[in-house]
Amino acid sequence: MGKFQTSVDRSKTVELLKSLVRINSVNSTLVEGAPGEAEIAEYIASYMQGIGLETKLEEVKSGRPNVVGTLKGVGGGPTLLFNGHMDTVGIDYMEIDPLDPIVKNGKLYGRGANDMKGGLAAILAATKSLVDSGVEIKGDLIVAGVCDEEYGSIGTERLMEEVRADAAVIGEPTGLQILIAHKGFAWIDVETRGITAHGSRPEIGVDAIAKMGKVLVEIERLQEEVLPRKRHELVGSPSIHASTIQGGRELSTYPDQCKLQIERRLIPSEDAKVVNAEMETLLATISESDPKFDGGHQITFIRGPMEVSPDEEICKVLNRSALDITGKEPSFVGGSGWLDTEVIWKRRIPAVAFGPRGEGSHAAVEYVDLTSVIDVSEILKLTTIRFCGISA
Ligand SMILES: [Zn+2]
Repeated sequence: MGKFQTSVDRSKTVELLKSLVRINSVNSTLVEGAPGEAEIAEYIASYMQGIGLETKLEEVKSGRPNVVGTLKGVGGGPTLLFNGHMDTVGIDYMEIDPLDPIVKNGKLYGRGANDMKGGLAAILAATKSLVDSGVEIKGDLIVAGVCDEEYGSIGTERLMEEVRADAAVIGEPTGLQILIAHKGFAWIDVETRGITAHGSRPEIGVDAIAKMGKVLVEIERLQEEVLPRKRHELVGSPSIHASTIQGGRELSTYPDQCKLQIERRLIPSEDAKVVNAEMETLLATISESDPKFDGGHQITFIRGPMEVSPDEEICKVLNRSALDITGKEPSFVGGSGWLDTEVIWKRRIPAVAFGPRGEGSHAAVEYVDLTSVIDVSEILKLTTIRFCGISA
């Protein structure tokens, strides 16, 4: 691959990353009054245009754009999608100026440096370096900056209505490991119903809060005894926990209603059916031993888990490219959190996450390791050449 080895420009890539961090792109659904992605999308669009991509800015919602650039291939090869979210979580609680990136000991500090402007910069720099090298790829490379990953993922949802690809890489910070599986989650409302009565009339009143206590005991038992027996080799065991609880009217009245919100984390192969069956069994078990128990549940929101085989072409190509660039073979790993990869994966497109090394996503101090950003960029460039193919 001798003639293709123009390398990613480190100092220009660091400058690009700094510019991305300087633009406040706090998710405006997550944090009221925050600016959202409009400005950063404009910036990325002009970068893409500057390197000759067919570029499209598209509002998914008012002030919430996606930006999509396409490097057209000459034809006859598979299409690869690089995806990175442009939004960040809030900045109020950060210890150093979150929008004034500083570099210390090879690390760049600032909000979004790790999650995931580092990955975005790596993707953009890889694309630029590929264009600069003069290599003609066969398949298309689509580069997408998406909005709203930190809240509802409306950006990637919309993107996938419009683009088709044969594989996708999301540049989330994986420390140069290839993330091929992650957990999903379900939010569930549980309601118990009682009978209101004067506090002095236990023969009439049925205490909905006490009945919910039985649900809580069963949830803890699920978490401690049942769920640990299920295990996925990359993401571990599913889990369940109580999140919020409400109930009761006043001190001298039996409560007729109690509402509990719980979260269940799902491992690959689990879905809404599994969660519903589990909750139905749990409630039925309580009912059997307590005729006064009256309760029901409802899943209010669910995001599925995902899993891609390490034998997928994109996994093999990424793996080999990472080995060639860094001299180290990456591992295939699983993640505990939900990612946009699932939105792509559920459309039957193999999607993995692969990105730089850093710390402090959503935390008070956030940084990304700059050498890892450059390595990821080189790896993504080589991955594009190998996956999309090159014309002789
Ligand atoms: Zn992220």
